[in-house]
Amino acid sequence: MTTIQRQSARSSDWQSFGDVPESVRETDHYQQEYIEDFADRWDRLIDWNARAQAEGDFFIRLLKQHGARSILDVATGTGFHSVRLLEEGFDVVSADGSPNMLARAFRNARDRDQLLRTAQADWRFLNRDIHGSFDAVICLGNSFTHLFKERDRRKSLAEYYAVLKHNGILILDHRNYDRLLEGGDAVRQGKGNVYCGEDVRVAPAHVDDGLARFQYDFSDGSTYHLNMFPLRYGYVRRLMSEVGFQKISSFGDYKKDIENPDFFVHVAEKEYCFDADSAAR
Ligand code: SAM
Repeated sequence: MTTIQRQSARSSDWQSFGDVPESVRETDHYQQEYIEDFADRWDRLIDWNARAQAEGDFFIRLLKQHGARSILDVATGTGFHSVRLLEEGFDVVSADGSPNMLARAFRNARDRDQLLRTAQADWRFLNRDIHGSFDAVICLGNSFTHLFKERDRRKSLAEYYAVLKHNGILILDHRNYDRLLEGGDAVRQGKGNVYCGEDVRVAPAHVDDGLARFQYDFSDGSTYHLNMFPLRYGYVRRLMSEVGFQKISSFGDYKKDIENPDFFVHVAEKEYCFDADSAAR
């Protein structure tokens, strides 16, 4: 028998994790987690104004510093970064594996007088559905954590790498799972960050080495969950370098300081710098 976690007014729209939600550790499951009802509420979780304030111009400065003009947002979600970048004059393609999230993103952009160029694409097969090459790929909002198998992470990073121009960059973020795995808080008390909405309480419901299950309680009494893989800081950096990225710079909470932040941001550079010294040895 299947336990229903949350039923929306639309009867086909369910979050379903089965009898043992902690056993759901599958990459493909994100498709069933971002149901239409949850997609509709996502913006209450991430309050666009508060988030814009928390981030400031961190990503815009980074992209400009690297001379990026064309951006592929691979985890568009409801469109926060795609819209911000369009407003700043970047050339943006907005991809996501979830049609519900893309539909919401399109509407959000239209409400702000922006037209999104959307493409439904799973990261593991990105180059099958996305054509062209980009100065930057962004994978933000703790999205990469949806991949449960190491081979899915390697494949997705390789797909991001392949869609970049020769000197392109990947910007990818994730929660500070190291702290969570060591028994600490997901978010430090009283601190606004990526998820800034006041209408929702976010807390881990289960954490072990292979799963971080988060619960989202909204003020209207509705509850949703996301099952994610807890990515460690050093592990993500290692994978990026193993798939071929040449230089990785990491930030904590949008600053260079990486001491105990809520979120890490990694900037991985593709450009191959020939090291004449080591070649001569
Ligand atoms: N970047 C947005 C933000 O910051 O608000 C959305 C973040 S949301 C946590 C994660 C997004 O990643 C969802 O929209 C989900 O559909 C997408 N996603 C998860 N796994 C994916 C995959 N394998 N391929 C493509 N998209 C995926």
